[in-house]
Amino acid sequence: MTRKWVYQSRSGKSEYAEVLGRDPDVAETKILFGGKGAGLMEMTGSGAAVPPSFTITTEACVEYMKTAEFPEGMWEQTLEALKDIEAQTGKTFGDLTNPLLVSVRSGARQSMPGMMDTVLNLGLNEETRASLAELTGNEWFSYDAYRRFIAMFSDIVMDFSRMHFEGKLDELKECEGVETDPEVSLEGLMSLVEEYKAMYKEHFGEAFPTDPYKQLDLSIKAVFDSWNGARAVAYREHEGIPHDWGTAVNVCTMVFGNMGNDSGTGVAFSRDPATGKHDYMYGEFLINAQGEDVVAGIRTPQQISLAASRAWAESQGVPEKERSARYPSMEEVMPDIYGQFLDIVDMLERHYQDMQDVEFTIERGKLWMLQTRTGKRTAAAAVKIAVDMAEEGIITKEEAIMRVEPEYVDLLLRPSFDPDAPKSLIAKGLNASPGAAVGIAIFDAERAKEATEGGKDVVLVRPETNPDDVPGMLASKGVLTQTGGATSHAAVVARGNNLPCVAGCSAISVDTTRRQFTVGDTVVKEGNTISIDGFSGEVYLGAVPMIDAEYEKQSELIELLSWADEIRTLGVRTNADYPIDAQRAVDFGAEGIGLCRTEHMFFDERARDAVVRMIMAETDEEREAALDEMLPFQEQDFEGIFEAMDGKPVIMRLIDPPMHEFLPPREELIAEVARLRVTDPDSAELAEAEKMLQVVNGMWEVNPMMGLRGCRAGIMYKGLTEMQTRAYFQAACRCAKRDGIEVHPEVMIPLVSHVNELKLEREKLETVAKQVMEEEGIEVPAIFGTMIETPRAAITADEIARQVAFISFGTNDMTQFVYGISRDDAEGKFLLQYVERGILPSNPFQILDEKGVGRLVKMCVEEGKAANPELEIGLCGEHGGSPPSIAFLHQVGLDYVSCSPYRVPIARLAAARAALQYEYGRK
Ligand code: PEP
Ligand code: MG
Repeated sequence: MTRKWVYQSRSGKSEYAEVLGRDPDVAETKILFGGKGAGLMEMTGSGAAVPPSFTITTEACVEYMKTAEFPEGMWEQTLEALKDIEAQTGKTFGDLTNPLLVSVRSGARQSMPGMMDTVLNLGLNEETRASLAELTGNEWFSYDAYRRFIAMFSDIVMDFSRMHFEGKLDELKECEGVETDPEVSLEGLMSLVEEYKAMYKEHFGEAFPTDPYKQLDLSIKAVFDSWNGARAVAYREHEGIPHDWGTAVNVCTMVFGNMGNDSGTGVAFSRDPATGKHDYMYGEFLINAQGEDVVAGIRTPQQISLAASRAWAESQGVPEKERSARYPSMEEVMPDIYGQFLDIVDMLERHYQDMQDVEFTIERGKLWMLQTRTGKRTAAAAVKIAVDMAEEGIITKEEAIMRVEPEYVDLLLRPSFDPDAPKSLIAKGLNASPGAAVGIAIFDAERAKEATEGGKDVVLVRPETNPDDVPGMLASKGVLTQTGGATSHAAVVARGNNLPCVAGCSAISVDTTRRQFTVGDTVVKEGNTISIDGFSGEVYLGAVPMIDAEYEKQSELIELLSWADEIRTLGVRTNADYPIDAQRAVDFGAEGIGLCRTEHMFFDERARDAVVRMIMAETDEEREAALDEMLPFQEQDFEGIFEAMDGKPVIMRLIDPPMHEFLPPREELIAEVARLRVTDPDSAELAEAEKMLQVVNGMWEVNPMMGLRGCRAGIMYKGLTEMQTRAYFQAACRCAKRDGIEVHPEVMIPLVSHVNELKLEREKLETVAKQVMEEEGIEVPAIFGTMIETPRAAITADEIARQVAFISFGTNDMTQFVYGISRDDAEGKFLLQYVERGILPSNPFQILDEKGVGRLVKMCVEEGKAANPELEIGLCGEHGGSPPSIAFLHQVGLDYVSCSPYRVPIARLAAARAALQYEYGRK
């Protein structure tokens, strides 16, 4: 039996059900009939007035693409379907007395707006035009339809650009001294049609095809071919749509919006696609026009609702009198049709349970619906529409959650560049921290701070950043680095502070001495304005205009996230180092602190000298004195954090980075010593620099990330762990005692690779904590845990789990060690290219590598829980804020993730979506 390639709109769904042996779901109908074909069938089934039509399936297109021939039986089925339309309309294709005219339109599975082709008024020739004129009593209309058809057919089917035809129409209008198409005279149109035909004949050497069946055959082929047109291919590449889907072809009875002033055509959204508002109908229409006129922008379209029309007039500075005379709304000029239209759109929205984007035509006072599809929308509209629809009872709260992509939340929390503004792109790096920033380029953190104090907006540009740059970074609007990846210092600090950052932008060459960077032939000097886009990693010359965001005002987002909290089972904590970050994270809904990187407190100017003295100490007394000086800084910050967290758990991680990071760079010291030896050989300054160099040399490591850091520092630097523990518990006890704050101190030991390291450190912690509680005369509920960051720690999870109350995966380091890829400089060197070239599916520092690192995580959870069923398990690497990673971590059975404050809302939503997806099987 020949395969079924063609389906009638009025019976297609049930016929397809017969083929399948069950009812198809919406997704399946879209796959076979394309979005438009499926929409026509749904609309017809729902009772809306839809012109009779049929759909040639996407499968037919796929077959056609193999041979450039229609598949067997397709043409015969098309002719049969045409007969059916003839029976429904009482019109006949090619008939001289009552001709049927059709439109031929593409329609892919996923909407590709404007990317493929449409032919209208098909079936016209001189005879059918004449009968159309007679039937409608409107000669002008018949010529207008005919000239449109010749131009469109030539352009789309024969590849003879429409521009040639439009040029002639413009000449005619000029010659007749009129502005719009409907004002052109009948005589003018008649001569234009003759001119069009002559142009066609001259170009192709044969007459314009008059046989409607030939017109149809060629048009269907042209629509199939348009699937592989350059525009469509480029669009699919950009949107990630597979090239082998093919397009369906929809053949639809023509209805005419250009039959006089009781006719018209337009497009509308059931809700505002920019804001999601549902106050009036958002759309435009034109009286006495065909669909193409609305999008062509030749005439100013009118609004559908009166309220929208008034808002439009106000925005355009059009006085009310002029508005109501020249641009009246549909509500005013066709009140009955308007009422019907509202009802139908509302019905379609309820049927599809989503915001619809519809096309319609009014032919002599009768409303016809031509298309409906789910409307594209901004992030803000997506959230508002989902929440409103749940509140209106159209969808459930769970569905609302599944409608909003977590990335939308990210977008809503950050200012962004105006997508419509002109831009001059000069380079692209890693999109390390989302958001948009505009400012003058400054190449040094201190100067950046000064410039901001002087009221300037700054983008700090550095080869890479280090802790010294933090004050300058925080004062800047954004950060651009030449090297460094997703977990580089610049990226982590930027994300933690909602600071847009483009990192690892290896296309630029930063010269801090000459205070400039070059990229190709462009030189950007200090003081020149640049714009960076942390969403995309793009860098622009000059200022790109921005649009702003505020969380506390986004009531729908706050509501949606409260629903997410009811559903999710994965906890969401935050990575916060200072009281101000902690407070911000609580405002965003964090349930505790999963990681406080205490070393960041030591980078504070006040504490830093003491840290240096501690490292340089030659005697126990000197070291103890330095540690005593460091303690109050830590204690003060911890108190602020406990206050902000008000009863929520707080994980303090013992100092982690290589200690040399607190000292001046070795190269700088060598240069300084050399200079002083020449200029001031007997100075105390030289003696001090030499001593410092000696210490730095002693600490120098080829591979500092695998060196004296993490718990190793605590073990090797006597008194350090004890000091941190004392500061922490003094803060906890004093907050509890003095201010009655509920405290839940938790201490975490970093970078353990052998259980013995853990035992050593844990013993110190417990001793000091107990001691402080006795001294302060109060007991606080403390627990101790460790990070799992090295492969060995993961592999020996059972041993480790027996020693602790909790573990937290440090997947930044874990990814570094499992992959053997440096987290600090791989991105710029090869990692970004690896991703671009498809060698890696994604950047493993941004999205957790499920197969490798993820496997270890899973194993560790299983073995850890088996060894210690009470074990609490979290994750505090950057992956804690990455939605695809969160989905995986939910599945693996973690108790919580911890991420930077600005990603907390994203993680809350992603965790709820993961719960719905895996527990309830929703897509
Ligand atoms: C980690 O390694 O994942 C982690 C959270 O620690 P840090 O980034 O401070 O090394
Ligand atoms: Mg780490």
